[in-house]
Amino acid sequence: MRAFLSPPFLNGDDERALVAQAFDSNYIAPCGPMVDALEREAAARFGFGGALATVSGTMALSLLARALGIRPGDEVIVSDLTFIASVGPFAELGARPVFVDASPETWCMDPALAERALAEHPRARALIATDLYGQSCDLDALAALCAARGVPLIVDAAESAGATYRGRAAGKGAWAAIHSLNGNKIITAGGGGLLYADDPDLLARCRKLAGQGREPVPWYEHRCLGTHGRLGNVPAAIALAQLRHLGDALRDKAAVWEGWLARLPAWATPMPTASYGTPNRWLTVVTLAEGRDPLRAVAALAARGIESRPLWKPMHLQPVFQDCPAVLCGVGEALFAQGLCLPSGRGLSPDIMDETIETLERL
Ligand SMILES: *Cc1c(COP(=O)(O)O)cnc(C)c1O
Repeated sequence: MRAFLSPPFLNGDDERALVAQAFDSNYIAPCGPMVDALEREAAARFGFGGALATVSGTMALSLLARALGIRPGDEVIVSDLTFIASVGPFAELGARPVFVDASPETWCMDPALAERALAEHPRARALIATDLYGQSCDLDALAALCAARGVPLIVDAAESAGATYRGRAAGKGAWAAIHSLNGNKIITAGGGGLLYADDPDLLARCRKLAGQGREPVPWYEHRCLGTHGRLGNVPAAIALAQLRHLGDALRDKAAVWEGWLARLPAWATPMPTASYGTPNRWLTVVTLAEGRDPLRAVAALAARGIESRPLWKPMHLQPVFQDCPAVLCGVGEALFAQGLCLPSGRGLSPDIMDETIETLERL
């Protein structure tokens, strides 16, 4: 590949320097000064009461599902247009997902449809809303709906680190939120995640669950089942350097987005920007005009070493979730049919952008 969709980006020697520090301290362990600093600085940067570093974003969601005590037969309300990790950890514990379609204005969960889902499923144990492609969901609207019914709101902010909603960090104001530190995200540890909450009891519960549920006594005492979910000190060092450069990442991603906007012909429409916030421009995503096939575009670009992808396939269309209830309006299906994710790496060359547009023009 000459241009990946969303490759990791190292900030000079800063990552290497912090990894060397981790090596020198011999904290090659799922605890240590880098983990502590990452949790402290991430919570402060995004304005949360606290943070927990985890082995993946999926694990952060899994810890929340465990903390909620999700059991077979429970229902959870989830964004339909998302990556499977938003719902997988809940479904794995036996929950039945209720999928809610996207709003055409934000591509995130439509609050009016969410209200219907909450009314039709009054015993839902949680509502999990995804910030799609780096754009915050309509947090206040969803938080108000959830508060009125006593349903915990979880924001899957895996893709939206650095994005804002009405001036605050994406996810801030929810019961809990998570970031992914996977290799393709705007800041990365190679693999990892962060779980955020304002409630210290919830954070303590998740921390305990991430440490095999061990009780705070000198011997190994277990009153509940946990798992091994904590991030190691070495990947935390990488993530810490990345977090400290998030401002640079946001600037570079915005430049890539602007570069694409300046080139987009009439047959490609960019993802709408919601009026309530600033996206982090993690990926530049467009919809192609009727009659243009995203899969043909992906193949033509791949032949030139340029990576692109269709949008997330809606969850209600996934064979693994067949027969799950859904509140739909057709937006997710239409976006999947016509959407294309363009290469969006920091520092993507203008030549690749020009070549991409030319290649698609010729199709
Ligand atoms: C990347 C991603 C996740 C999962 O994060 P991992 O760190 O890869 O486990 C969850 N939800 C969404 C929407 C994502 O894009």
